[in-house]
Amino acid sequence: MSFPQTRMRRLRATASLRGLVRETELSAERFVLPLFVSETATAREPIATMPGVERLPIAAAVEEAREAAALGIAAVMLFGVPAEKDDRGSGAWDDDGVVQLATAAIKRALPDLLVITDVCLCEYTDHGHCGVLREDGAVDNDASVELLARTAVSQARAGADVVAPSDMMDGRVREIRTELDGEGLADVPILAYSAKFASAFYGPFRDAAGSTPSFGDRRAYQLDPANGEEAVREALLDVREGADMVMVKPALSYGDVIAAVKRETRLPVAAYNVSGEYAMVKAAASAGYLDERTTVLELLTSLRRAGADTIVTYHAKDAARWLAGGA
Ligand SMILES: [Zn+2]
Repeated sequence: MSFPQTRMRRLRATASLRGLVRETELSAERFVLPLFVSETATAREPIATMPGVERLPIAAAVEEAREAAALGIAAVMLFGVPAEKDDRGSGAWDDDGVVQLATAAIKRALPDLLVITDVCLCEYTDHGHCGVLREDGAVDNDASVELLARTAVSQARAGADVVAPSDMMDGRVREIRTELDGEGLADVPILAYSAKFASAFYGPFRDAAGSTPSFGDRRAYQLDPANGEEAVREALLDVREGADMVMVKPALSYGDVIAAVKRETRLPVAAYNVSGEYAMVKAAASAGYLDERTTVLELLTSLRRAGADTIVTYHAKDAARWLAGGA
């Protein structure tokens, strides 16, 4: 049967009909709100390239977490901005490091809110790379993996509900799983940034976290944006190494990768709607070029439609408010 018997517009005629047949739901319990926790900030510090996002002292991070929980958001993801950096990134696995202390403080205040911790060295290294360097300046994979596992254990001991390695070193998921299990932390899941692309869209984040590499770039370990098949292969390797969830990052230009990773892994898939994607929407909205609310809800829905179970987004609080019917 086709036109005129078939008329696709029949089921679009009213809001009730559209609601009845809607394929994709968006809800706050799918959202993860990223927070930048600063060891040096004494008050909230606005981030110029990310309007509405701030670097937070620990007490303010607890307040943000409380607000997120009240809006029905499932989780916060913590990134550390340490006072001191060194060539090994030792602040990352310091049991009294800023992420460890913030994790403990948030879990004490809000035991039911999930705390996911970013496992990487780039916020803690003075050179800004995601691992330790060899003599020749290249990132030493195997030496870095050991330090990443140490970081994950320290964060899990501090109370992290999920650890999320974002470094893109080979073999880090296996090493983290082995170390967590060996330390009696077998119940802590790993959310692996499996398909993290070397993207221009991370620019504002690097301002926020102070993690711009002092030389070179990250193309020697992050994925080439041209490679979707390789992204699936990365995800499948992380599954074999013990990942419980996998992530695709960035999100908006990578719907095909999200769909392929979901189809091939059958694992819960997270999409990271990154800082540059957020900044573009905020800039266009403040210029009056786009309506922020409908734009954001459409973008986040498109990630769910592509196959993302979980969405990490700086829009989380606004979107949760809008979904609850607020202004
Ligand atoms: Zn990193």
